[in-house]
Amino acid sequence: MDWADNAEQAAFRTEVKQLLDQGLPDLYKRLAKGEGGGEEGQAGDWVADRKAAEPERREAAKAWGDALAARGWFAPQWPKEYGGGGLSPMEQFILRQEMALAGAPTVGGSGVSLLGPTLIVHASDEQKKKYLPDILSGSKVYAQGYSEPGSGSDLASLQTRAVKDGDEYVLNGQKIWTSGAHHADALFALTRTDPDAPKHRGITFLVLDDIKAPGLTIRPLINMAWKHGFNETFFEDVRVPVANVIGEENRGWYVGATLLDFERSNISGAVAQKRTINSLLAYTKTDEGRNKSKLQGRGGESTALRTELAERFIETGVGENFSFRIISMQNRGLIPNYEASTAKMFISESGQRLQRTGTKLFGLYSNIWEPADPRAPAKASFTQGYVTSVPATIAAGSSEIQRNIIATRGLGLPRG
Ligand SMILES: Cc1cc2nc3c(=O)[nH]c(=O)nc-3n(C[C@H](O)[C@H](O)[C@H](O)COP(=O)(O)OP(=O)(O)OC[C@H]3O[C@@H](n4cnc5c(N)ncnc54)[C@H](O)[C@@H]3O)c2cc1C
Repeated sequence: MDWADNAEQAAFRTEVKQLLDQGLPDLYKRLAKGEGGGEEGQAGDWVADRKAAEPERREAAKAWGDALAARGWFAPQWPKEYGGGGLSPMEQFILRQEMALAGAPTVGGSGVSLLGPTLIVHASDEQKKKYLPDILSGSKVYAQGYSEPGSGSDLASLQTRAVKDGDEYVLNGQKIWTSGAHHADALFALTRTDPDAPKHRGITFLVLDDIKAPGLTIRPLINMAWKHGFNETFFEDVRVPVANVIGEENRGWYVGATLLDFERSNISGAVAQKRTINSLLAYTKTDEGRNKSKLQGRGGESTALRTELAERFIETGVGENFSFRIISMQNRGLIPNYEASTAKMFISESGQRLQRTGTKLFGLYSNIWEPADPRAPAKASFTQGYVTSVPATIAAGSSEIQRNIIATRGLGLPRG
């Protein structure tokens, strides 16, 4: 199989590069060059930048969103009739690839990637008119309220209650690991509306229009990289209109599962890894990289490390091919299922191995955490990556859950 661009794809790639050249704000270009103190190639964070205290970050987020919107690529994967780009899966991949290479942040958050595509499948026309334009204009960013302290892998056991009271539901309970809720404007959540029904049949999918609604409290959770990425979300008599149910009451599990399929089809991981291995290899060939790495000399550790690097290089190629397999299925109108699990699992695990190899390569230098420390190899990107890649095999369904899916749906083995 030849993965090189055909003429049409090459023309599309040129168009994307032009937009990045002309439309990507200077701040994001500087960050990508490592001039913001971080890793080279690192993208800004559009969701956080929208509301940042610094005017330059706010302006960059707005300008980049507007540049993509003007080209029709704010929501590249949505059909054109809903204001999306109507791009084919291959075009979406090229766009993501070039954006990652340029360090351009994706825009729209989970509204574009998860909620919007789910609404297009399950929402009423009236709801589509209400929700989709605010996602597309970048004025409303959503957080995902699925997981609870006792319900992660076994999501259908969730307990957050929604009790009908006239034309509203009253919500009580708790969600956890709510990524970006502190930057979000709104939230979508799975709630229990019938506690007596079998667990998958008593769940309702609700959109909460305002994350600052009375009774809704967000508390930060600081991760082991000392970053505030996710939160705990508490509901105390939070009122939500019945009109905000997506699909039918008690049938929300199926709406929620559609959204998870979009989450697991994520193909940007392979692109990011290719960039990471390439920049690692380039760095080890610079004077600084040569001095700090343990690749010098023959035999022993240096040979083992060279072999390890070769393995990581092969794995990035394998991951890329898993992603291409998903894209080629989507291009043919097929819906990847265990194939998406295979890609998600392999790429998240090989990503952790890549970061680990990066830290091993620089020995004790890898203990330096701060990117700005001149002693830090490759701006401490592998040290930081070693820590920040850990959750990748948990988020969006753990590796064990992906292996279960591959075993049962992919290989046809009996359930345990
Ligand atoms: C970075 C990050 C961001 C996240 N963002 C969000 C978000 O925005 N919104 C949201 O709702 N959730 C979010 N999550 C939560 C995520 O979906 C859950 O962490 C995940 O589904 C696992 O659930 P859990 O943490 O409860 O672990 P558990 O389900 O308790 O699992 C614990 C361990 O048991 C294993 N295990 C569980 N069941 C089985 C089984 N049947 N077979 C084999 N092994 C099993 C798991 O693999 C894991 O190793 C996020 C998580 C992370 C790490």
